[in-house]
Amino acid sequence: SSPTLLMRVVASAYSVAEKAARIVRNVMATGDLGIVEKCGANDLQTKADRLVQMSICASLARKFPKVTIIGEEELPPHDVSEELIEDGHCEEILKKTCPPQYAGIKEEELVVWVDPLDGTKEYTEGLLDHVTVLIGIAYGGKAIAGVINQPYYNYEAGADAVLGRTIWGVLGIGAFGFELTEAPAGKHIIVTTRSHSSTLVNDCISALNPDSVIRVGGAGNKIIQLIEGKASAYVFASPGCKKWDTCAPEAILHAVGGKITDIHGNSFHYNKEVKHMNSAGVLAALRNYDYYASCIPNTVKQSLVP
Ligand code: AMP
Ligand code: MG
Ligand code: MG
Repeated sequence: SSPTLLMRVVASAYSVAEKAARIVRNVMATGDLGIVEKCGANDLQTKADRLVQMSICASLARKFPKVTIIGEEELPPHDVSEELIEDGHCEEILKKTCPPQYAGIKEEELVVWVDPLDGTKEYTEGLLDHVTVLIGIAYGGKAIAGVINQPYYNYEAGADAVLGRTIWGVLGIGAFGFELTEAPAGKHIIVTTRSHSSTLVNDCISALNPDSVIRVGGAGNKIIQLIEGKASAYVFASPGCKKWDTCAPEAILHAVGGKITDIHGNSFHYNKEVKHMNSAGVLAALRNYDYYASCIPNTVKQSLVP
């Protein structure tokens, strides 16, 4: 039988994300990042954010014209150069069986959330493995599939190592492109922001009595830390993260049995009308989510209105 719409969208998003990663690397290689401040020095946009957003949105819109695509960057409308268009797809994804509950999905029912470059601040500072490209796919307000590309995976591993990787997942199928690993048992290793800290962010982490704290950029990168066992929980008691930051990571984390919510434990909604900001922060874990949720102080919760 022919592949379902959902599987075709995921298979295309995979190739589109690989093209995006090449653009991210090419812009860096030119040495001219074209940095623009959006809302201050901690909210940046580079030429890579702009080109990748155009590439992803135009490539997916051409194949799936009725899908709603919401990208992070606000760009003036103009024609997208043909060299930014990717029309390939990943055959391996098309070979997987679509979960029956998603088999009848129509284009109009899908919302795709695009973060063309997550971890822009770190990209401009040369912390290259913090950078990811995020394509999240939502249906009925729920993140059901996602692609995370890490353009600089292995960049410090020597010339023989393959640079970059693509992780993908669908609820009911699983997630692929990495080795699922649990964090060390009995240790509380918290991963959080490095460039958007605040007193509240730090107070909340202290309340968890962590054995160690990893401060790295990017929402995509922090979910990778969870699924590869580097950290036990992602805790960010602050507004700032948006729906395009969490949609793809959520689908992949949930596909392997983890959980992500706001700091109150409310799930995120991804229908097209939703507010973009995740105002009440982020709490995620691959295992023992309930334990971390139970440790969030009421004072922190009261400071973060959903
Ligand atoms: P971080 O963990 O700081 O890398 O943040 C994860 C994602 O949320 C990135 O896309 C950030 O740009 C975004 N983000 C978090 N906090 C803020 C903020 N205060 N202002 C703008 N963007 C933010
Ligand atoms: Mg982002
Ligand atoms: Mg971004």
